[in-house]
Parts: sequence; structure tokens; C-alpha cells
Amino acid sequence: MLQKLDTKSPADLTISDLGKNDQRLGLKCNYCSRFRYMAMHRFPPETCVTEIAKSLHCAKCGSDDVETFAVSRNSENGYWPAESS
Ligand SMILES: [Zn+2]
Repeated sequence: MLQKLDTKSPADLTISDLGKNDQRLGLKCNYCSRFRYMAMHRFPPETCVTEIAKSLHCAKCGSDDVETFAVSRNSENGYWPAESS
């Protein structure tokens, strides 16, 4: 399962925070549930994580109802959540 960060308000998280927290940038489509990781180096460190979704759309279904958020490793096994399409 994907877990959204709740220790800090997600709206305040930036790309540089993800690096500090050992987190990755996830992109999820609310229409078709496609989930992918995005390359964080494409964005300036001060970029707000949730703002990124506003300029994106889903590569599978074309919906602009997508969200970007911090993704953490599975706390039990240390693996990153799997991408899905
Ligand atoms: Zn989609």
C-alpha cells in the first residue's frame, strides 16, 4: 500500500525534503490508478511536491486528475512500493 507522509503537511513538502527523508516522488492517477515514480532531479529543490501534479497528466489515460506525493519505503521490508499501471 502507498503511504502518504503525515509527519509534515504534504502541501509543504519540497523536492529537497524528499531527499532528506529518503523518499521518492510518486505520481498517481486518480482516474485509472496508474502509479509511477518520477525523476526528482528534473525539478528544482524548492519545488513543492504537490504542485508538480498541476502541470502533469496521466501517460496512460490522459486524465489530469493526478497527484504527486512523497513515497516512503515499506517500513517492514525496506522495499519501495511497486509501480502499477
Ligand atoms: Zn490515468
